[in-house]
Amino acid sequence: MHDDLLRLAAGGRLTVDLSAIQTNYRRLAALAPGAEAAAVVKADAYGLGALRVALALFKAGCRTFFVADLAEAFALRRAFPDAARIYVLNGLQPGAEAACAAQGIAPVLNSLEQARRWAFEGGARMACALQVDSGMGRLGLSAREVTALVEDGELGGRLAIDLVMSHLACADTPACPANRAQLNRFAEVSARLPHARRGLANSGGVLLGVGFQMDLVRLGVSLYGVEAAPGGPRLEPVVGLAARVIQVRDVQAGDRVGYGGDHVQMAPGQIATIALGYADGWPRRLSGRGRAFFKGVALPFAGRVSMDSITLDVSALAPLGLGLRLGDEVELLGPQQTLADVAEQADTIAYEILTRLGRRFHRTYAESCS
Ligand SMILES: *Cc1c(COP(=O)(O)O)cnc(C)c1O
Repeated sequence: MHDDLLRLAAGGRLTVDLSAIQTNYRRLAALAPGAEAAAVVKADAYGLGALRVALALFKAGCRTFFVADLAEAFALRRAFPDAARIYVLNGLQPGAEAACAAQGIAPVLNSLEQARRWAFEGGARMACALQVDSGMGRLGLSAREVTALVEDGELGGRLAIDLVMSHLACADTPACPANRAQLNRFAEVSARLPHARRGLANSGGVLLGVGFQMDLVRLGVSLYGVEAAPGGPRLEPVVGLAARVIQVRDVQAGDRVGYGGDHVQMAPGQIATIALGYADGWPRRLSGRGRAFFKGVALPFAGRVSMDSITLDVSALAPLGLGLRLGDEVELLGPQQTLADVAEQADTIAYEILTRLGRRFHRTYAESCS
């Protein structure tokens, strides 16, 4: 179908600026000149499209990618040059050893048991990462288990661990003493595997200083234009979201709008309905308190967020001579409203808004020839 029609057929339009992702990658990599800058493209590159994003990053010089599970790794591997290394953060599930090895995918070994299976059932002498738990308490080997691994000559001899990694629990809070404690613990444990490269920092960790950057940093949310912690470089916005106006109606004082009749119109005005709702990932939590924008004018949500639509109080537009017509688009994400703004209003984090952005939007990828 013609792209114009596809665009018309969808209620919302999502734009992903791949050049902005490339620029953010270069800026963040420049902050950690001594480390390799790897990209985290799990959860479909935080909802933006793992293949498109990873290929753009490859062009920008990125050669190491992290995904969450093996299905994501398979999808990426198929489309990707052999030159790219793909690590699977969630580890090596029983039964997946041979397939993982056959496709040249590197698991992040998160337990002694996974290390044994990789060594003896699939991946002997193939590159892999080992995760150490330095305080996050989620995945990874304890210091004692690392000792056991190092002292087991046969196991150690079969493993080709090229990266020892750990993950920070409080990287978004630079002043948190847990950061330094994790760094010290990780430095101590990783020293037992002196031939492997070391990586501790995510987007926030990179900003904690050179000591945290080590040999490899894992950049996630910051590539997608979200500040992970204060004090970072300026990031280019990556995502834009607009929704189509599907009806505009006049309302009188006292009229109720939407489920539960939650919105009561205080004065005569206009309500517009837009084609985007909680099924598109827009938080229902924003009922009665979210906003959209039209030509820079804020349009408050009137009543509850529905599955496929949201009602806006657009009464402010007519006095400004800005008539809203059927088919016009209002801005949900863009110059007037960032992911961080929406996250704050919805009492959540920008990661959650980003990764839930709907699958039925019409998507456009912008990439200048850089
Ligand atoms: C998701 C994830 C990252 C990326 O984190 P950001 O905060 O998005 O940069 C890095 N490392 C691990 C282990 C992760 O799970």
